[in-house]
Amino acid sequence: MKTSLQIAAEARLEPIGVIAERFGLPAEYLEPYGRYRGKIDLAFLDDHTDRPRGRYILVSAITPTPLGEGKTTTSIGLAMALNRIGKRAAVTLRQSSLGPVFGIKGGGAGGGYSQIVPLAESILHLNGDIHAVSQAHNQLAALVDNSWYHGNPLDIDPDRIEIRRVVDVNDRFLRQVTIGLGGKQNGFPRQTGFDISVASELMAILAMVNGAGAKAALRDLRARIGRMVVAFRRDGTPVTAEDVQGAGAATVLMREALKPNLMQTIENTPALIHAGPFANIAQGNSSIVADLVALRCAEYVVTEAGFGADIGAEKFFHLKCRASGLWPDAAVVVATIRALKAHSGKYEIVAGKPLPEALLQENPDDVLAGGANLRRQIANITQFGVPVIVALNAYPEDTPAEIEAVAQIAAAAGAAGMAVSNVYAEGGAGGIELARLVAQVAERPGPREPKFLYPLDMPLAEKIGVIARRIYGAAGIELSETAAAQLDAFAAAGFGNLPICMAKTHLSLSHDSKLRGAPEGFIFPIREVRISAGAGFILPIAGTTVTMPGLGAHPAAHQIDIDEDGNIVGLF
Ligand code: ADP
Ligand code: MG
Repeated sequence: MKTSLQIAAEARLEPIGVIAERFGLPAEYLEPYGRYRGKIDLAFLDDHTDRPRGRYILVSAITPTPLGEGKTTTSIGLAMALNRIGKRAAVTLRQSSLGPVFGIKGGGAGGGYSQIVPLAESILHLNGDIHAVSQAHNQLAALVDNSWYHGNPLDIDPDRIEIRRVVDVNDRFLRQVTIGLGGKQNGFPRQTGFDISVASELMAILAMVNGAGAKAALRDLRARIGRMVVAFRRDGTPVTAEDVQGAGAATVLMREALKPNLMQTIENTPALIHAGPFANIAQGNSSIVADLVALRCAEYVVTEAGFGADIGAEKFFHLKCRASGLWPDAAVVVATIRALKAHSGKYEIVAGKPLPEALLQENPDDVLAGGANLRRQIANITQFGVPVIVALNAYPEDTPAEIEAVAQIAAAAGAAGMAVSNVYAEGGAGGIELARLVAQVAERPGPREPKFLYPLDMPLAEKIGVIARRIYGAAGIELSETAAAQLDAFAAAGFGNLPICMAKTHLSLSHDSKLRGAPEGFIFPIREVRISAGAGFILPIAGTTVTMPGLGAHPAAHQIDIDEDGNIVGLF
């Protein structure tokens, strides 16, 4: 098979105006950026409140291996397949960070015959949004230090300046830095560090903005940025972006980034690529405004939530849907036979290394053993009252007996069905069975009532406990002394009614990345708690979270190059 880059290069693209027309977006709301991409004026929402909303499909997954399960690939392929069966569909996805593109994980624009194109434009600073976020963030950080420098009227505690700097590069050398060296005219020395841009709270805010139209969205963006906690005073009370008079400037810098980006798939299906918050320290879902637009244009909107259902789907429901008021008609859980086998605990999959030989041999018993993870992730979504379809993302080595094992697990766990998806190898044609099943389930009549596992007025520690027990399978939680004190302080400062955004490993249902399958009976430990008051959540942290990735010995950047005709190699 050709490489994903070759396939993308050979795709027959349509001008972005043609895509907008097919999408159902009137030309006056499209702001073209070059030939194959554009931004969408949110005034479209103000002017089309009478249009019915399309069906909303969430794509989630089992607990992934470090290689990824194929959620993005499946989301893109499913949207293309829905079009093939006569449903006008679109896909909404996160924008990828530049860090992983030049690091190891690639751009997350799908793969094989299910991709967003043009590949380079979609994964390399698409329409400048990430740069706008970085610029707004660093502008705000500078204003915080500046307030401290000029007489510190807010009584900021320099040891509790929460906002760090950001840059969209994997660079471990920036994790800890000392700034303000060189004498008083150059600031005051203090320790801080850099995060990758997509870890900025501004990115989480961009994805969370809710607004019935252009004005409402801008107002919400401005208000959310104003609520960001950037530091604490010496008396322990929070200092916000509003307090340092930085919210207006940051909003100005992000005003264009607020408009969703329109692109296309390899089969010319409309694709909205907008906002890219981390899935651990943020909600890991693409933007609400893009979904709002897409649902008023397409009959079907397929959207991906990051990592496994325990993280991405839980946050999709509790954070994104809680903010938007939308609710999905069906959910797809992506699984691969190789990952299910790995969940048996017998095999180790390491990124950048070849798969263990034995993993590729037929073994339905290992699939059944690892099936505990699929069962739990199906249950995690059905708890929210949403029907689940399992998409088995096919690899060439899969055998009929192993596929049958997945079908058995899915049926026993109460899934509404299972389909083998060949969208990587065949594009939309390889997803027809999946699309039919999704449409059949999504079009069933019945109420689509939001159903949350905890009410907002439950005490913070109890909300954390609900997620740990009902989603992760923990017996309970254990708060460190620091975490308990932080929760009390946040509640006292008036943040007790915020929902929870848990930061934990994506490689296990538990907090321990080594535990495969569906662990039970463990105590889920919370080390510390942070707050993202602008994005609108409390952030309990289990274990360590990396907010600035590093580069390996052989980063993808080594292979990336361009010839004089502009042909790029090494991107994926
Ligand atoms: P996720 O969104 O779950 O992280 P992706 O869709 O980005 O996963 O896929 C992860 C990687 O695996 C990508 O490089 C993609 O091209 C590749 N991939 C996905 N599905 C298949 C498949 N069926 N066969 C081969 N490679 C695949
Ligand atoms: Mg993905």
